[in-house]
Amino acid sequence: MYDYLIVGAGLFGSIFAYEAKKRGKKVLVIDKREHIGGNIYCEKIEGINVHKYGAHIFHTNDKNVWEYINQFAEFNNYINSPIAVYRDELYNLPFNMNTFSRLWNIKTPAEAKKIIAEQIADLNLSEPKNLEEQALSLVGRDVYEKLIKGYTEKQWGRPCSELPSFIIKRLPLRFTFDNNYFNARYQGIPIGGYTPIIEKMLEGTEVLTNTDYFEWIKTNADKVKKTVFTGQIDQFFGYKLGVLEYRSVRFETEVLDTDNFQGNAVVNYTERSVPYTRIIEHKHFEFGTQPKTVISKEYSSEWKQGTEPYYPVNNDKNNALYEEYKKLADSTPDVIFGGRLGNYKYYDMDKVIDVALEAVRKEFGEG
Ligand code: FAD
Ligand code: UDP
Repeated sequence: MYDYLIVGAGLFGSIFAYEAKKRGKKVLVIDKREHIGGNIYCEKIEGINVHKYGAHIFHTNDKNVWEYINQFAEFNNYINSPIAVYRDELYNLPFNMNTFSRLWNIKTPAEAKKIIAEQIADLNLSEPKNLEEQALSLVGRDVYEKLIKGYTEKQWGRPCSELPSFIIKRLPLRFTFDNNYFNARYQGIPIGGYTPIIEKMLEGTEVLTNTDYFEWIKTNADKVKKTVFTGQIDQFFGYKLGVLEYRSVRFETEVLDTDNFQGNAVVNYTERSVPYTRIIEHKHFEFGTQPKTVISKEYSSEWKQGTEPYYPVNNDKNNALYEEYKKLADSTPDVIFGGRLGNYKYYDMDKVIDVALEAVRKEFGEG
């Protein structure tokens, strides 16, 4: 008999497993994939830690979260500074004085602010209602057209005018010459990749990979007291209220016989006609000096049953449906729903740690 069946060996499930085991509970972790780690899983290719499910840069402002994850790994001092390619032009991200001076051949913050104000003067954007209005109001028409519109519509498969504005607010906007993509106090990549973090969390815990919950539970329900579920909440309830929308991602990974392909870990292709959103060159996350390099092109598509869901599409329609599922979840006391898919939230890793630790405190009555 297991005190907890944990569905999903990603970050949420592994933290819960670690903390439950520490409190003397008997735990089983299952995952339908062939490996542990969920989306932070890394695989070594040509001596390089390849982020198999997309670039993962750890960043947080929360000291407790930073100290928690540092129990399991030492982090390097990588700072994410992506490059955006629009046709034959190259820009620094996030939107900052380097971007603006390249775009408009200007030198000062006052000049940049004046150009942005002029570009949106006639649009009356005092209360932005969607991503398009939010982006225009922050950075003006040129940046929107060259660096946001095409990328966002590829990434989300929807017009910017139909997407929630919070998505673009993830990115900093600065009138300083600072290419740090995140406004985070703490940032880095775990030396040796992310998989060893999960291995440490699950050390001594029983884990079954290649095991789908919906199959496993048919013959094993009597072995489980409580379940922690980090898969799709709508699938758990048999999609009975309707299907939530997700974006899926496909990665085309290649080994190249060159030591340095693009000179940066992340290069975004912001024009619509390039089919992928970004190219990741994995070695640069760890300042690698290997003779070869590994790159991944990232293609975004709408999720369909049978493919992997990666991003919840948190527009009003889906959020309202999620709230209905949440009511069902709240009346299912033997199941704790968590993580990006279980909570249907666009969580970064630091937030996942925060909510996993909160779930642990709640479950074990620790205030
Ligand atoms: P997951 O890692 O998705 O784990 C869920 C696990 O449950 C999976 O392993 C899945 O196989 C398993 N599962 C699902 N259903 C079943 C089932 N029926 N039976 C058995 N197992 C099941 N965050 C950052 O902080 N920085 C970044 O730079 C960053 N970049 C990202 C880039 C991309 C392309 C993506 C998609 C995400 C990125 N994130 C980033 C977010 C980060 O991946 C998540 O916050 C975190 O990995 C979520 O952990 P989780 O445990 O909730 O989910
Ligand atoms: N974005 C953009 N242009 C870029 C990079 C990002 O317009 O070059 C927008 C896009 O809408 C994206 C959002 O900003 O979905 C958030 O970007 P982030 O890099 O945080 O996305 P993630 O790494 O989670 O895919």
